Amino acid sequence: MPKPKIGIYWCASCGGCEEAVVDLAEDILGVVEAVDIVFWPVAMDFKKSDVLAMPDGALAATLLNGAIRTSEQEEMAHLLRRKSQYLVAYGACACSGGIPGLANQFSREQILRYVYEEAPTVANGSKTRPQLQSGSDGDALALPEFRRVVRALDQVVDVDYYIPGCPPTPKITQAAIAALLSGKPPPKGSVLAPDFALCAECPRRDTKPADLSFTHFTRPHQVLLDPAKCLLAQGVVCMGPATRAGCEALCPAGNMPCTGCFGPTLRVRDQGAKMLSSLCANIAAKDEAAINRVLDGIPDPVGTFYRYSLPHSLLRRKVDLPDPVGATAP
Ligand code: SF4
Ligand code: SF4
Repeated sequence: MPKPKIGIYWCASCGGCEEAVVDLAEDILGVVEAVDIVFWPVAMDFKKSDVLAMPDGALAATLLNGAIRTSEQEEMAHLLRRKSQYLVAYGACACSGGIPGLANQFSREQILRYVYEEAPTVANGSKTRPQLQSGSDGDALALPEFRRVVRALDQVVDVDYYIPGCPPTPKITQAAIAALLSGKPPPKGSVLAPDFALCAECPRRDTKPADLSFTHFTRPHQVLLDPAKCLLAQGVVCMGPATRAGCEALCPAGNMPCTGCFGPTLRVRDQGAKMLSSLCANIAAKDEAAINRVLDGIPDPVGTFYRYSLPHSLLRRKVDLPDPVGATAP
């Protein structure tokens, strides 16, 4: 019997999710025994034309990592959706926008101006920017369009499953692949990780006080952290209460706070708002000036509370002024 065919692809991604697949180490041999990987451009020489030549639905599943920022990524997301029975958002960027999604705090014009004109390392007196169409010596060159916003995969195409994490751990990846190959796939739309908050699997959970009464917030590099005590109890913003479990509390176990990469549980619509409201409800000070002094300990609220989820959040992006670059959507 022919083995199911799978694809692995990246869009706006750092490459960490591709590394996570390789991190399966010798277990990847078990995966290769069960499936044929027929599209994985990072690892082997596959071309878009190979996918175009496949019948629709030919791929049993595609694991797509990275967010969607360019017209080319959008086109590949549509193509792989058409060719795949299951399209899986693999990693925080595909699931909810991830780190690239933090760019939604700035307009496209601000980003292009900074990158090509204002960054201290740029020497570009003529203010040249890449053009969508150009050519020399009779050769035409087309570049993908840099879209106005970063989007999660399900804001572009229909997604069947989500594997969270930045990147997903080998254990979560293996369990997800096993579930998809089991012949009894989970319900469509499932997040393939436990649906409870990280605190429940954190080795520090017994030291988390019921009443936190924050008098200050601090950042991990500013203090010597007690390696056994709940990080929130030490005034460090730890996203554990608003974040889905499944990573086995890797960051708190390494004396660093959870930054929220597994996203929220099903009961939470907006991970950042959930964490923000629970912290603010526990600030000891009652007058505005004193509350503001406590909050000064969180100098980057968007990067703290929405590090992986801004495009998927209720805020989604900063509304920008008319964008002179030209394209209208999205
Ligand atoms: S989820 Fe994390 S590891 Fe994966 S592509 Fe995004 S930033 Fe990289
Ligand atoms: S350290 Fe973080 S994850 Fe662990 S119990 Fe405290 S808040 Fe929860």
